[in-house]
Amino acid sequence: MRILQNTMNESPSLLDVSELVRPEQKLQGQEAFRDYSEENPLQQRVKKTYYEMHSNQTVDFVKSKHAKWLGFNHVECTIMEALDKLNDLVDESDPDLDLPNIVHAFQTAERIRADYPEDDWFQLVGLIHDLGKIMAFYDEPQWAVVGDTFPTGCMPQASIVYGMDSFGTNKDLKDPRYNTKLGMYSENCGLDNVLMSWGHDEYLYQVVKNHTKKVGTSIPEGGLYAIRFHSFYPWHTGGDYEYLINDHDKKMKEWVLRFQKYDLYTKSASIPDVEALKPYYQTLIDKYLPGLVAF
Ligand code: FE
Ligand code: FE
Repeated sequence: MRILQNTMNESPSLLDVSELVRPEQKLQGQEAFRDYSEENPLQQRVKKTYYEMHSNQTVDFVKSKHAKWLGFNHVECTIMEALDKLNDLVDESDPDLDLPNIVHAFQTAERIRADYPEDDWFQLVGLIHDLGKIMAFYDEPQWAVVGDTFPTGCMPQASIVYGMDSFGTNKDLKDPRYNTKLGMYSENCGLDNVLMSWGHDEYLYQVVKNHTKKVGTSIPEGGLYAIRFHSFYPWHTGGDYEYLINDHDKKMKEWVLRFQKYDLYTKSASIPDVEALKPYYQTLIDKYLPGLVAF
C-alpha cells in the first residue's frame, strides 16, 4: 500500500442508511434489519444524516469534492488491501448492524455469484461496490459518503427521503439557475451529464474508470452503472427524474435494479468465509482491476 495522504480518522463510524432493507421493499423470505419507526433511535440518526446531506449538498459543494477526490491522490493499494481497509469502518450505533464491511462485500458478491455464475464481472462489482467509502478515513462527513443520492442543480423531487423539508437551508433552492424542475439540465440529457450529490457511488465509479483506462481492461457498462447509481433510490426505486434520463440510462437501469437487491443487508443471509473466498475473487481482481489502484 502506498500512502499518498495520511488518513485523519483511523476507525470512522459509518452507517450506510441506503443499505437498510426498507420496510416497503422487504425481499421475499428475508427479514428486515430495522423498521423506520419514529421512536427508533436509529431513525433519529438516519434523519439527521439526510437533513445534513440535503442542506449541504449543493452544485458548488459537489464540484469541490470532485476537485478533492478525482485527482486520485489519497492512496494507492490493491483491491484486496482496500477491502481490508474498509473493514475498519465501524458502526457503533446499532448492535444489530455490526456486520463488518468486508463481510457485506463478500456477501453481496456471493449472492450475485449464486444467481449469475457466468457473469464474473457482476460478481466483482458486488465485491467492490462500496470501496468508495474509504473517503470516511479522510474526514469526509457521513452525509458525503453514504446514503441515497440525488441530482444537484435542479429541483429535488418528491420521492427523496424526508422530502423538501430536509432541504431547508440548501442555498441552491434560492438560485434561479438550479431551482426549477430541469435546473441546469436539458430534457433527457442523460445521467452521464448530471452532477449527482457526492458519495461513494460516483467516487468509486471514477476510480474504476481511471484504473481500467490505465491498465487497459474494461468492466461491462451495466456493472459501471450499478456502481455509479446503486444509491440513486429516487430514480431506480422512486421513479423520479425520468426527464433527465435518456435511452441508454433506461437500458442500464435494469442492471442497477438487478444489483440493488443484493446490496441490502438482511438478517437471514449466511456469513461467508471471507478468507476461503479470497483466492477466487483475487482471480477476478487480477482479470479486471489488477495492480495498485489509485484512490
Ligand atoms: Fe453502497
Ligand atoms: Fe453496499
